[in-house]
Amino acid sequence: GSDLASVRTKAVREGDGWRVNGTKLWTTNATHCQFMILFCRTGPLDREHRHAGTSQFIVDLSLPGITIRPVRNLVGEHHFNEVVFEDAVLPEDALLGREGEGWAQVTGELAYERSGPERFLSSFWLLVELVRALQPAADARAEIALGRLGAQLITLRRMSRSVAGLLQAGADPALEAAMVKDLGALVEQEIPEIARDLMAEGPPTLQSRTFAQVLAYTTLHAPSFSLRGGTREILRGIIARGLGLR
Ligand SMILES: Cc1cc2nc3c(=O)[nH]c(=O)nc-3n(C[C@H](O)[C@H](O)[C@H](O)COP(=O)(O)OP(=O)(O)OC[C@H]3O[C@@H](n4cnc5c(N)ncnc54)[C@H](O)[C@@H]3O)c2cc1C
Repeated sequence: GSDLASVRTKAVREGDGWRVNGTKLWTTNATHCQFMILFCRTGPLDREHRHAGTSQFIVDLSLPGITIRPVRNLVGEHHFNEVVFEDAVLPEDALLGREGEGWAQVTGELAYERSGPERFLSSFWLLVELVRALQPAADARAEIALGRLGAQLITLRRMSRSVAGLLQAGADPALEAAMVKDLGALVEQEIPEIARDLMAEGPPTLQSRTFAQVLAYTTLHAPSFSLRGGTREILRGIIARGLGLR
């Protein structure tokens, strides 16, 4: 969740390994995976330095003591899972990176998660179907809206590539990545609104039926775009701090 430092799942050193207890919610596609990355507490909670004492592990999901429970989303699909650890014992080499460095590692990884193309292209399929459904005679209002969306997506692509360049150069583009995700989610969530508006009085052609299906699917997924990978409020907090505003 947003307050990751409050994580309660714990790994305790035991012999040559680690004993893990706790629950990890929202683990996308865990049922299809052989391994997952776990962020958890490995040291006592110090209220003054809440980010200290956390580590990351690569967990073999076939180990005893690990249960994966499905969580259905708004569309009724099963992508999410809750992963429960009950005295799961991990080998020594399951530790990823360095013990106690979990926070620095996870925040570094978030720049990758927040700046990739999947952070601004989630509604792209709907945009393609909208263009198809509007053909052959899009009016000026549609042309303006589509032109604006195209310009926004091209700008986001350039921003995303710039962040990739910074990551490649070894920089820490946490602020820049947060901007890509925040702006990307705004565009992704705006596309279903614009599509519904432009097609409100459209004729029920075969193309527009496909469009309606993609619109329904995207509309039901859209609320999650500004939650996954860091909520809008959290991202704007990071941007404000990066700009020296808080
Ligand atoms: C589609 C999807 C896929 C996901 N996949 C994964 C995954 O594979 N692995 C994984 O680890 N997680 C995954 N998540 C979880 C995701 O990272 C969390 O949902 C997200 O970080 C928000 O945490 P939360 O759900 O606990 O909400 P909370 O943190 O409880 O937030 C609830 C609300 O309070 C607001 N809020 C919280 N703190 C503050 C604050 N300090 N200031 C202002 N507002 C605040 C939030 O913005 C939000 O609106 C996924 C989520 C979604 C929607």
